[in-house]
Amino acid sequence: MKNEQDRPEKHVEAVVVEAVVVGAGFAGMYLVHRLASSGRTVRCFEAGSDVGGTWYWNRYPGARCDVDSMEYSYDFDDELQQEWEWTERYATQPEILRYAQHVADRFDLRRHITFHTRVERSVFDETLLRWTVTTDAGEVLTSRFVIMATGCLSSTNLPDIEGLDTFSGPLVHTGRWPHDGVDFAGKRVGIVGTGSSGIQAIPVIAQTAAHVTVFQRTAQFTIPAQNCPLDPEEQAAIKAEYGAFRERNRRMPGAFGDRYQRPAPNAVGLSPEAFHEEMEFLWQQGGPMFLSGFRDLMRNPAANQLAADFVRGKIAEIVHNPVVADRLTPTGMIGCKRLVVDTDYYATYNRPNVTLVDVSEHGQPITRITATGLQAGETHYEFDVLIFATGFDAMTGSLLRVDLRGRGGESLAETWAAGPVTYLGLGVTGFPNLFMVTGPGSPSVLANMIIATEQHVDWIMDCIHYMDSEGHAVIEAERHAVDDWVAHVNSVAGRTIFPSCSSWYLGANIPGKPRVFMPLPGFPAYVDRCQQIAANAYEGFRFESLIPTAS
Ligand code: FAD
Ligand code: NAP
Repeated sequence: MKNEQDRPEKHVEAVVVEAVVVGAGFAGMYLVHRLASSGRTVRCFEAGSDVGGTWYWNRYPGARCDVDSMEYSYDFDDELQQEWEWTERYATQPEILRYAQHVADRFDLRRHITFHTRVERSVFDETLLRWTVTTDAGEVLTSRFVIMATGCLSSTNLPDIEGLDTFSGPLVHTGRWPHDGVDFAGKRVGIVGTGSSGIQAIPVIAQTAAHVTVFQRTAQFTIPAQNCPLDPEEQAAIKAEYGAFRERNRRMPGAFGDRYQRPAPNAVGLSPEAFHEEMEFLWQQGGPMFLSGFRDLMRNPAANQLAADFVRGKIAEIVHNPVVADRLTPTGMIGCKRLVVDTDYYATYNRPNVTLVDVSEHGQPITRITATGLQAGETHYEFDVLIFATGFDAMTGSLLRVDLRGRGGESLAETWAAGPVTYLGLGVTGFPNLFMVTGPGSPSVLANMIIATEQHVDWIMDCIHYMDSEGHAVIEAERHAVDDWVAHVNSVAGRTIFPSCSSWYLGANIPGKPRVFMPLPGFPAYVDRCQQIAANAYEGFRFESLIPTAS
């Protein structure tokens, strides 16, 4: 286990709690562990009834990670990573949830966490230099720090379609899946949405349902996961050098996939045969490293089109009915929206019990939900179960659902009216002693998120130790640093194809949301910058050393 620095002698006076952590997913759990094990008082609030966050809520059939299990797991404690045995290349949701629960038990985290409770409001008191935090249970706390571990993909997006509340059967969102499951046997099922969640769920549900009708607005590129049982020998070999393995992955652009790295030439200029051979290899290898085989795919639209054409060719090969294949074939660039990883997705459309309906503006848009189904264009479709796999108000949704008020009573919603602005994705001007984990402006959703989370939590903890050792009461991002950082994020993203399509990375999936590219591509450079800033006495942050007295 990483050594906790001893608590310095000089520290701010005790307050009701030193830190309130909002959310008990992987970010909140690690925060609670670090804060509590360094002797600080911490209260964590979690809306759900247990730990796990994403993996607590997303219990839909087929849910699993698409970063290898050996990498999509905590690395802060070597005993933990040595003792836990993953069973598949990509762990299922139940297995990841069991892992989260194991971590909570092992580090005795639950005693710091209040479940079934939402943080509704948090107001900074400029006199006391503390936050007043209010929960939906009516509890009010005073805290020196508030740390938002509220998740980037935790506020579900249920489209505002007329008649939503009139459907007489079960109507479920993949991100709020019922804990006692949904019985599909012999049922007619409608599914709206073909992003990662829908694409994972559809093939599994189709195995038991009488009929599945998929309502697709935009066709997606998806790559086979090639999931398989984890070879015990391979697992043992990784564990034998887990530290070095983790370190190599941390130096990867997305903090994962080192062992799949191959020499990456430019696609443009390569012979068609050599290009095709490499693409075929990557397709058979499976998973999100598909786009890393060539250096220029995410930067050069012409290169990207070559890879997109390869996948389009695969769809035509796999799907028997050419009309359905055509409907499933995406236009535009591959990887511009979050690349999807699947098991048997395209082949599922060869089943007689699966129908694909185009609900784009060129097809039959959904106009309303009825008691018995859904109206799309001229057709009324009847169902027993209706599923929305329509995604999330990503990255900012859960932050803005809390009424956060900083200096002068200004809300985060006001500060971010034109889109999120942060320094390092960790701090916001006007919101002292408020940290975000994997916030907008950090690599976040473009990285292996458990590793990104650990990096943020470690940075925050180092910062708090530093503040105590220097006698600082308050830290706040300086406006010029925020402005420069936002310009930096836009500049880095602008050198990629990412900002060129309507993705949730840009907020384009939520009507009225400002279009700002939110995550920062490139994990290693970001980590280096964070370390440099910490080494330079947290340049870009401003401290106040006035130590207030407890009220
Ligand atoms: P979360 O797990 O989202 O936890 C946040 C918690 O905060 C939630 O439990 C929520 O209830 C709680 N909360 C929010 N607001 C409040 C409030 N106001 N009061 C109290 N509680 C609150 N990432 C990868 O890197 N690899 C993957 O393969 C991968 N697969 C994914 C699959 C799915 C289906 C989804 C939805 C996401 C996936 N992700 C993946 C992203 C995933 O969200 C992160 O990997 C990680 O689990 C995030 O952890 P977190 O603790 O930051 O947030
Ligand atoms: P998503 O990628 O945002 O996909 C939502 C889908 O719903 C899209 O197909 C979208 O169509 C459609 N949609 C939204 N509103 C609609 C409407 N009004 N009418 C018709 N269709 C509508 O959401 P997600 O699939 O839940 O995935 C979100 C993210 O979670 C992923 O990108 C990934 O980061 C993570 N995730 C990962 C995995 C994994 O494999 N590890 C699994 C699930 C989720 P448009 O494209 O036209 O907007």
